[in-house]
Amino acid sequence: MTKRIFRSLCLVAAAVFLLSVVLIMGVLYGYFSRIQQTQLRMQTELAAQGVELAGMDYFDGLEVRDYRITWIAADGTVLYDDSDADTASMENHLRREEVREALDTGFGESHRYSVTLMERSLYAAKRLADGTVLRLAIAQNTILTMMLGMGQGFAAVIVLALLLSVLLARQLSRRIVEPLNGLDLDEPLKNHVYEELRPLLGRLDSQQRQLRDQAELRREFTANVSHELKTPLHAISGYAELIQNGLVRPEDVQPFAGKIYDGAQHMVKMVEDIISLSHLDEGAEDMAFEPVDLYAAAEEALRKLAPVAERAQVALDLAGGPSPMEGIPALLHSIVFNLAENGVKYGRPGGCVWVTASPGPKGGAVLTVADDGPGIPPEQQEHIFERFYRGDKSRGGSVPGTGLGLSIVKHAAEVHGARLELDSAPGRGTRITVFFPSGE
Ligand code: ADP
Repeated sequence: MTKRIFRSLCLVAAAVFLLSVVLIMGVLYGYFSRIQQTQLRMQTELAAQGVELAGMDYFDGLEVRDYRITWIAADGTVLYDDSDADTASMENHLRREEVREALDTGFGESHRYSVTLMERSLYAAKRLADGTVLRLAIAQNTILTMMLGMGQGFAAVIVLALLLSVLLARQLSRRIVEPLNGLDLDEPLKNHVYEELRPLLGRLDSQQRQLRDQAELRREFTANVSHELKTPLHAISGYAELIQNGLVRPEDVQPFAGKIYDGAQHMVKMVEDIISLSHLDEGAEDMAFEPVDLYAAAEEALRKLAPVAERAQVALDLAGGPSPMEGIPALLHSIVFNLAENGVKYGRPGGCVWVTASPGPKGGAVLTVADDGPGIPPEQQEHIFERFYRGDKSRGGSVPGTGLGLSIVKHAAEVHGARLELDSAPGRGTRITVFFPSGE
């Protein structure tokens, strides 16, 4: 990055420098041209006065180095020219622009290019009292020859400027990059470097916070899992130890074994739920959506739940009809099963759990699981979907559970993009509705 900034700065500096040189040369050239023209005019006036006073004698011993001086008769023939050429053989000057202008108005000026010599000649001509014309000419350099004329000085300035540009560019690029290298990425928002980096640092900060939250959740989850597994495990090993040490009367062995079995079942259920949740946490990416009938999925889940419901003396009722939708069969099964199982678990003997699966009003499907159980107190309603949350622990441990069932339902619904609605009040039963969106 430093190199790129350095290169860019050098390039910009070189471009600006070259452009400035070209512009300055242009301005200087114009300025010197004007000065030269004024001087030529003055010299012509002076020389004209000299010729008026002294005639041809004026040219005797006249030493003009930069100028060329020509005296032209009114008919255009050259009377005197300070070049070595023979005046008699010189062509008639009447057609020269400056000469014609001088004859007409008293004073004339013009300029002509010589491509071969790469120079421009300036001419000024003045008509004398006797009708003759005195003309002075001077060679003026083109921009290129002017630059070449400046030779070494000009090259020195270029080298100096380029060197300075390189030095400054290097320092500047380092100064730009230095704060970036010093960024504290652990606490992005504490960096006050460039305003333009704020959005990026903000995003980094929120990502880091998300990661921290996730790590915290995972820590909490692990702690909860260990804690929740420890309780049944202690019970199991406690009862097993009593039996092993012969401290249990023979008639108590069976009930103790039953408790060990219950504890083990509880652990099995918890491990299954934890596996389902971790799988959902990872986005259930290995599970594919496919066309599925929610009604059929509910039917199957209830069939599996039927023995449990029968033991609890809770009736299961399925209503609705074919409800085609796009979904993941295993997750839909788990949603229906967990919701209906809660209805059975928390319901009263002689109660009922009503399950309805029907097509949604705007496509998709709707699942409703309602019971005539005790209902959920309002202050618990916002917690029941949290992991390991068990209302009243739950009912003093009389109802077995892991506190993970509704978390699984919530996650599985999220994977389907479904919305959950809870309607419950103590003494009025519980109704949970899941709105599955249409596949489009
Ligand atoms: P679990 O049933 O294993 O305790 P859940 O996550 O399924 O865990 O439920 C969380 C809590 O929500 C339960 O402990 C219970 O207090 C309450 N709950 C869930 N469903 C019902 C229901 N149908 N009737 C009454 N209470 C319920």
